[in-house]
Amino acid sequence: MPSIYLQTFGCQMNVADSNGLAHQAWSLGCTFTDAPDEADILILNTCAIRETAEMRVYSRLGQLKAIKRAHSKLLVAGCLAEKDRAVMRKKAPHVDALLGPRDYRQFKALLTDWGVPTDLPPPETPMRLPSAEDAPGEDSPAQYAHLRALVSITRGCEKFCTYCIVPYTRGPLESIPPEEIEAQIQREIRCGAKEITLLGQNVNSYLYEGLNFAGLLRRVGRIEGLERLTFLTSHPHDFNREVVDALAELPNIEPRLHLPVQCGSNEVLAAMARLYTIEQYLERIGYFRERLPRWALTTDIICGFPTETESDFLETLGLVERGTFEYAFVFAFSPRAGTPAATMEPQVPQEERLRRLQAVSAAQNDRTRRFHESFIGETVSVLVSGPSKKDPTRMAGKSGHNVTVIWPRDAGTEHKPVVDVAIEQAQTWGLVGRVA
Ligand code: SAM
Ligand code: SF4
Repeated sequence: MPSIYLQTFGCQMNVADSNGLAHQAWSLGCTFTDAPDEADILILNTCAIRETAEMRVYSRLGQLKAIKRAHSKLLVAGCLAEKDRAVMRKKAPHVDALLGPRDYRQFKALLTDWGVPTDLPPPETPMRLPSAEDAPGEDSPAQYAHLRALVSITRGCEKFCTYCIVPYTRGPLESIPPEEIEAQIQREIRCGAKEITLLGQNVNSYLYEGLNFAGLLRRVGRIEGLERLTFLTSHPHDFNREVVDALAELPNIEPRLHLPVQCGSNEVLAAMARLYTIEQYLERIGYFRERLPRWALTTDIICGFPTETESDFLETLGLVERGTFEYAFVFAFSPRAGTPAATMEPQVPQEERLRRLQAVSAAQNDRTRRFHESFIGETVSVLVSGPSKKDPTRMAGKSGHNVTVIWPRDAGTEHKPVVDVAIEQAQTWGLVGRVA
């Protein structure tokens, strides 16, 4: 049977999409390999969110040109396939096909065109993907990867933040029927998943025949065997008290919320078309902190958005310095052709974007380390990711707050999916402890 090499770039949405593509190929009997030079079909699932993401994909395409065998086929899937549909085959003539995120229903037909037979019985062994090189976060070895499952609840986005390419590459918002979501969660639990992440560009905009996100949370929170539930990403405009109240009721929800603020200035928020003021953001997190006091609040921040002045930037820096967030993903603005922000004036020079990024990251690192220090002396329950990549004599995993935890390998707990770790040291990157 044809063997497939699949590499994923970008966000967890792409990881979930890659799993869906892999599942379709596996159901036709395809196998998987981590060696691109041995594969019959090579797939890159790509990202276009920032220029650096695009550069990584084109550089990988360059490498694959030398590696790809004469009879092999190369498919580029994902957001860059959609964005560069008109130019990619010119830039990389060894690409055989493009499938954007809205085209995945055509994937099986493409495999058939490439000679994959469709009349074989489904395989008897469960699907196991080799670990992907470019997956976000700590990429677990196959024997741990199934402990975490990503379940999409929406597709697309129609918020049209002025900097963002996603609405153009992924199309309008579509909510997935709750029965399909429940069935997938049940399947993942049967396959051993301990943690389910509900995924969408803006999960709070979920709406299916009157069922909103708070209702969906309550409904899936009752699924038998579901040990840990979390969700990504929330949009401050649609994140409301009803959602916070639903979260407060759920016994198996993990104590973390990712609520991207993007910046601390109302002028810049308006130019970004984020649909909230900083006062509204703070009011929403005020209620959240009151109801869910020991949760971690994480965020995304863009530095050097066009029109951002020094005083706008200082408002963002002040927000971070006041300890608003436990963790932040900080990005330099990257103009995306076709989005309104790409041509807004004045653009902030790249060196200035990077200076602001470094200042915000340094302030956030201080806050993050202090947050981590608050766990010293506590015992935390950790979902295991596998042996630490940097030091295989230690194991690594994530706490419910999504903090990386490492501890010495211990024969008694080596193969347990969840381990209690007594925390002894805190660093900016995470926590160090020993089995409790
Ligand atoms: N849907 C989510 C939201 O609304 O926050 C996440 C979208 S995106 C995959 C993740 C983050 O990338 C965004 O929150 C934003 O901070 C950042 N981002 C998106 N477009 C960007 C751009 N053109 N330049 C820099 N950062 C960008
Ligand atoms: Fe992009 Fe805004 Fe949609 Fe998030 S909400 S995907 S940042 S357009």
